[in-house]
Amino acid sequence: MTTNKDKPLGIYIHIPFCLQKCRYCDFLSFAAWSTDSVTAYAEKLIGEISGRSRAYGAGHHVDTIYLGGGTPSLLPANMLDDILDAVYARYPMAGDVEVTLEANPGTVFGGVFQEFRDIGINRLSVGAQSFSADMLKYLGRIHLADDTADTVRDARKAGFDNISLDLMFGLPGETLAEWLRDLDTAINLGPEHLSFYSLTPEEGTPVFDDIINGRVSDISEIDDRLMYHRAIERLAKAGYAHYEISNAAKPGFASRHNMKYWSLGDYLGLGLGAHSYFGGRRFGNTENMADYISAAAPEEMTAWEHVNTASDDISEYIFLGLRRTEGIDLRTFGRVFGRDFWDMYKEETDGLIERGLLAHEGEILKLTPLGLDLSNRVFMEYV
Ligand code: SF4
Repeated sequence: MTTNKDKPLGIYIHIPFCLQKCRYCDFLSFAAWSTDSVTAYAEKLIGEISGRSRAYGAGHHVDTIYLGGGTPSLLPANMLDDILDAVYARYPMAGDVEVTLEANPGTVFGGVFQEFRDIGINRLSVGAQSFSADMLKYLGRIHLADDTADTVRDARKAGFDNISLDLMFGLPGETLAEWLRDLDTAINLGPEHLSFYSLTPEEGTPVFDDIINGRVSDISEIDDRLMYHRAIERLAKAGYAHYEISNAAKPGFASRHNMKYWSLGDYLGLGLGAHSYFGGRRFGNTENMADYISAAAPEEMTAWEHVNTASDDISEYIFLGLRRTEGIDLRTFGRVFGRDFWDMYKEETDGLIERGLLAHEGEILKLTPLGLDLSNRVFMEYV
């Protein structure tokens, strides 16, 4: 295994419990759980954190931790503290480590935010999704429209100065005016960071069934793209830089953890179904809770692995890097891989530039506005 010990490590920790299953959700999360099963999971997770540190902790300093889910904010602060302590005890920490907690409105109140601060959490990602009471109800979210504002207010009182809001657009029957009203409501709450995703109806979810069976109307691709580009304009006017396909931030507040995913950084995924990329190897844990809980050692939790070839790394570097609006620097590409980009991809890249999907400016290659809409077609050329 080749590793670069100076390369900082990100840690993702998956907490797969929710109060109820949202109607569009196909994430690895469960609404049926008991206090005992959560306790058993947390204990197993702590065992995995410790166990995997022998292979992945030594010599690497951790500069980001991300508690995602599921709804990790359902866990009491003392349980999250135990989980984070296991990380702090086994992995050297960077002084300015970014520790993010996904916190759903309606699950955290008042003084609990102070407890989260006290255990080292310094960034919140709040699942607002919409500010329409009807839409929240339709989506199966547990919170009401005002709960997001309460969450932000309580978090600010506790001293959180790095808050992200997640929003969805392109919801069934949604109009452009409704989406922009939602976006303005979010901006007025003053978060440092905003993620905005177009609803993708996933097969097997109730929302997908509604659309397929004509119970609700899916919005058109043209309207969806209009909502997306108008959002980018609106966010720019409000001082948010659009730095990745679905993310915008005030200066200095881009998600450092997520940037690792888009720049081939090392990260270790811990918990049920979590994925890792470390030392040129991708691997993922089992998604079966019984198997996860009964595993005698972390290695038994691993369900699959793939050792990246040099060409895998090159492909991933390009198509993940192009997700960032700054694009990829072809000089850096040459330095990292010892290959000339144009020797490898001239034909594909010229074609994409001709079709208006990529822009080549100096040594930078990046998606155009049309390329942002058709990014998957661009990425396919480099796989
Ligand atoms: S809160 Fe998130 S993870 Fe949980 S069911 Fe809803 S969308 Fe899925």
